[in-house]
Amino acid sequence: MFLKPSQISAEPLSLGSLDCDLVIVGGGIVGATLACGLKNSGLRVRIIEPQRQVEALNRRQAYALTLQTGRILSKIGPWDQILPGISTFHQISLSDGDHPGIVEFTPQDLGTEELGYVGEHHVLLGALQEYLQDCSNVQWHCPAHVVGVHYLENWAEVELTEAGEFLTLRTRLVVAADGARSELRQAAGIPTRGWKYWQSCIAMTIQTEKPHNNVAFERFWPSGPMGVLPLPGNRCQVVLTAPHAQAHDLQTMAASEFLKLLEYRTGGLLGKLELLSDRHLFPVQLMQSQRYIQSRLALVGDAAHCCHPVGGQGLNMGIRDAAALAQILQGAQERREDIGNLLVLRRYEQWRQSENLIILAFTDFLDRMFSGDWLPKVILRRWSLGLLNRVKVLRYLALRIMTGLIGRPPRVIQ
Ligand SMILES: Cc1cc2nc3c(=O)[nH]c(=O)nc-3n(C[C@H](O)[C@H](O)[C@H](O)COP(=O)(O)OP(=O)(O)OC[C@H]3O[C@@H](n4cnc5c(N)ncnc54)[C@H](O)[C@@H]3O)c2cc1C
Repeated sequence: MFLKPSQISAEPLSLGSLDCDLVIVGGGIVGATLACGLKNSGLRVRIIEPQRQVEALNRRQAYALTLQTGRILSKIGPWDQILPGISTFHQISLSDGDHPGIVEFTPQDLGTEELGYVGEHHVLLGALQEYLQDCSNVQWHCPAHVVGVHYLENWAEVELTEAGEFLTLRTRLVVAADGARSELRQAAGIPTRGWKYWQSCIAMTIQTEKPHNNVAFERFWPSGPMGVLPLPGNRCQVVLTAPHAQAHDLQTMAASEFLKLLEYRTGGLLGKLELLSDRHLFPVQLMQSQRYIQSRLALVGDAAHCCHPVGGQGLNMGIRDAAALAQILQGAQERREDIGNLLVLRRYEQWRQSENLIILAFTDFLDRMFSGDWLPKVILRRWSLGLLNRVKVLRYLALRIMTGLIGRPPRVIQ
């Protein structure tokens, strides 16, 4: 059971007698990235994760990773180990249904060598887990379950069960990296704003007959956007968005019928398709926590915000949260500040909350503008895609957002 701060009274305790400086609750990609970022900070980190490490790798999902994510992980994480197992894309192609007008972005538009990457969950998390094995300041509690958190004035106490034992960790800061339904956020009484979309997502991996040529494409259909992300080998991750009932039908219809539809929607570019995974259905929501922090608690990743998967931004935002928080905590530690103090944590909130809001608004705009078949909207979106083709500065701006190159970059990549 989680307790709210007001229910607890503080007892004096010297900081030296705390078990650690930071407890990260949730050892997913965002939680693990934060721990990597604190490798040389001198801070003692514990990670609590309810799944065994091998089980946590089992999620069948792939993510579009922005250029900025690549830069962050190459400075604070195992990018050299990740890169051979993921694909790099050199073209992004946007189009409206089967309308012939196509917008193609290339690295020349941005002056970079590539436009992004696509990585599978097990490749990313597996490399992070391995990297953390060599970090002597990081200790895992896994599988372990948090049963209570008490926030006191000068420290927090995290109660957990691990291998049938009950443990209490005294720490200066607790970080919630426990995903969209964050129990820590809810127990702390941090309200959220947002809405559930009228659509759900169906995600799957497919085998393609023709090579994907490292092109990532997004096609906008009246039911919602469809993203096709190139994976190593002749494989792609497909994410379709559709109103709930339609999404359910797409998940349950016969595989042969579904593949025919997909071949039509990919315009025959990838040839005959085969399903390599189940079709997973996800609800879609936009959510922003009203606060990312309170005394002795910080939220990162999906615990702090969630967005529509169009444009593939959710995990990338979480990785930027992790890099920003690592930078702030390391700086505070060097200045001998209390890392769980609100004054320190506020620097993180001020930095990340507004930047994430821009991405939430961007993905919401994309979904609203590029779904539906109301004629004036169809005309407007075809016109705006045409504009993207013609106006260089617009292309550049859209690409900066898509590749994560907006906002204040963490110091590690400046
Ligand atoms: C269909 C779909 C496609 C997507 N595509 C992309 C994409 O292309 N690019 C992109 O950037 N994003 C994408 N996203 C978003 C992305 O999946 C999420 O933003 C990302 O997984 C969030 O990572 P996280 O580590 O914050 O949370 P999670 O991945 O949810 O990890 C949370 C971790 O906390 C653990 N945990 C849960 N509860 C507790 C607890 N009580 N105590 C301790 N630990 C706990 C879990 O076991 C897990 O390990 C997509 C999402 C969907 C649904």
